[in-house]
Amino acid sequence: MTDDPKLVSLEDACAASGMRMTEQRRIIARVLETALDHPDVEEVYRRASAIDANISISTVYRTVKLFEDAGMIARLDFRDGRSRYELLPDEHHDHLIDIKTGKVVEFNSKEIEALQALIAKRLGYKLVDHRLELYGVPLDPSERSESET
Ligand SMILES: [Zn+2]
Repeated sequence: MTDDPKLVSLEDACAASGMRMTEQRRIIARVLETALDHPDVEEVYRRASAIDANISISTVYRTVKLFEDAGMIARLDFRDGRSRYELLPDEHHDHLIDIKTGKVVEFNSKEIEALQALIAKRLGYKLVDHRLELYGVPLDPSERSESET
C-alpha cells in the first residue's frame, strides 16, 4: 500500500480534489473523521449541529452524499434501513453486527480473505474487492463454553 489516507485529513483530501469546502462542509468532514463508530446521517447531524447550530440536516445529507460520490467515505448498509458511514479504512476490515443491540464489531480474518480470493480464482476472477457483514446474537455463557471444547 502506497497511499496512506491517514496522512491527509478528509477535509484536506476533499479540498485537494477540487471540492469547494465551506465551513459547514469542513465541520461535517471533521465529524466523520473523528467518529469511532459507524454513524448514520442523523447521528452526523447531531454531532455537527452541536458544533454549528446553523447546520441543517439537508446540508448533512447533501454533504455526506457528495463525499461518498467523490469516493472519500464508504457507505455501509447493515439492514436496519439506515445508511452508515465511515472513512475509507487504512486496512481492510469486515463487520459483525449484533442484531439485538445494533453493536458493530470490526474484524479482519486472514482465512476469510484467502478463501474469498481462492473462490474468485476458481470462478475465473481476480478478486479486487469484497464486502462482508456477519449478523449475530451474543452466545449465552453455556453456548460459549461448549464452543471452546
Ligand atoms: Zn468499519
